[in-house]
Amino acid sequence: MQRYSIISLFRNAVTYHHHWREAWRSPDPKAAYDVIIIGGGGHGLASAYYLAKEHGIANVAVLEKGWIGGGNTGRNTTNVRSNYILEKNQRFYEFSLKLWEKLSADLNYNVMFSQRGVLITAHFDAQTQALLRRGNGMRVLGTDALLLNRAEVQRKVPALDFSATARFPITGAFLQPRAGVARHDAVAWGFARAADARGVDIIQNCEVTGIRVEHGRVIGVDTTRGHIAAGKVGIAVAGHTSHVAALAGLSLPIESHLLQAMVTEPIKPMLHVSLSFGAGHFYTSQTDKGELVMGGDLDGYNSYAQRGNLPMIEHVAAGAVTVMPCISRLRIMRHWAGIMDMTMDGSPIISKTPIEGLYLNGGWCYGGFKATPGSGWVFAYTIALDRPHELNAAFNLERFASGHTIDERGVGPYPALH
Ligand SMILES: Cc1cc2nc3c(=O)[nH]c(=O)nc-3n(C[C@H](O)[C@H](O)[C@H](O)COP(=O)(O)OP(=O)(O)OC[C@H]3O[C@@H](n4cnc5c(N)ncnc54)[C@H](O)[C@@H]3O)c2cc1C
Repeated sequence: MQRYSIISLFRNAVTYHHHWREAWRSPDPKAAYDVIIIGGGGHGLASAYYLAKEHGIANVAVLEKGWIGGGNTGRNTTNVRSNYILEKNQRFYEFSLKLWEKLSADLNYNVMFSQRGVLITAHFDAQTQALLRRGNGMRVLGTDALLLNRAEVQRKVPALDFSATARFPITGAFLQPRAGVARHDAVAWGFARAADARGVDIIQNCEVTGIRVEHGRVIGVDTTRGHIAAGKVGIAVAGHTSHVAALAGLSLPIESHLLQAMVTEPIKPMLHVSLSFGAGHFYTSQTDKGELVMGGDLDGYNSYAQRGNLPMIEHVAAGAVTVMPCISRLRIMRHWAGIMDMTMDGSPIISKTPIEGLYLNGGWCYGGFKATPGSGWVFAYTIALDRPHELNAAFNLERFASGHTIDERGVGPYPALH
């Protein structure tokens, strides 16, 4: 792998940048691999990287039906945080956050992780108490969490509505200072480049159309580029999890819903945290280009459409002008959607399956970007050793049958309410 550094930048600058090598190869698929990962999003690529790095298993292919990062990895609003209250979630996401803190150096690729803090505004006593409880739960486990009063919030985010006529007066806020945002496609590219350098084959435009199982054991996959044999197969396809698992005859407790996002025209720096409106469905952060990236709630009905619609723009814009009226004249420039793999308890599945050699990574709901390095790390562990790591032991498939669900939001089996 060509290392990126000030010296390589200088060398290439004097030769007019004609000699940069491709960041990763585009090999033809081999007839067989030790491990095949289906899905070239952040999770699939991270899993392949950690298989090679942590377990010395480099005879691995990542099969991606489109282009890497073209699914939810390249469509999300890039929030990275670990502000969960349930211990199993908290420990897992904090592990992931710690990997994020070293990721650019580890991958030798700048994923532009910016720890600017994630702030949730508080508007009512009951909500403040709930945020306080969440923060205390985090602090007990050693994670950073702060409760800000109104004056402190005003100093941190003066653009919010602190007027006497505010529809939802701000009483305080919850802040995780180490949380932040990262450049989403750089995460896919960084993992791809680092995995490729360790020998992993990344094969784009290769859709998996069948999973072959013999005597209860996976033996390979059928693809648009032919059959490929494999000792082990990992599924990491987010919104298409139900479809791909069905190829092996599995029926999962997952529904597919759309989550939309949009960006405004660029403006000067005015928002220095990632902000969530605590009284409605709206959250935003400002990109390095100056655009405000904004999102809201799920569409609320099942869909694979993968495109935005006008009612959601109105819904998100209503939240935006309620909490930050000063942005009401901004124009929305782009708008899109991703297909969310919603589980019935809002927590992910990183698990073995009833089929030997077949592993599942999915059910990320709308929160899987922040999990990318942690998810890849524990999924690689689970595939390599054929057993879960203690960090993902609870994220198994059986929990939905045994009743050991991990219901972070306390909303039960209703994805549309998560
Ligand atoms: C609008 C939006 C905002 C979000 N905001 C956040 C956020 O702020 N923070 C956060 O943590 N999370 C967020 N998320 C969620 C996050 O993006 C996802 O949970 C995460 O990116 C999932 O990564 P992945 O690698 O599992 O899936 P993906 O990136 O979707 O990758 C799966 C890949 O599998 C491929 N695939 C599917 N079927 C096949 C097949 N048959 N054969 C081969 N390949 C196949 C797809 O083409 C795709 O590239 C958001 C999502 C959306 C849509």
